[in-house]
Amino acid sequence: MRGDSNGVLSCLERERLEEELTEARSRGRNLSRLRNLTPFERAALEGREQAAQTRLQDHDEEHGCQR
Ligand SMILES: [Zn+2]
Repeated sequence: MRGDSNGVLSCLERERLEEELTEARSRGRNLSRLRNLTPFERAALEGREQAAQTRLQDHDEEHGCQR
């Protein structure tokens, strides 16, 4: 795969995955500010964030649009 790094956001899929990750992160942060989360809730939020991160990494490896 060819990599041109002209700074243009060329991959919509990656953009979408990044948004998902940001959303999962800020949701967890907002919730834990509002009240104390149960360990179960915390684990669920962390799991969601982790999954979003993994999807993004997988995309980078398979697609190579980062380089
Ligand atoms: Zn991509």
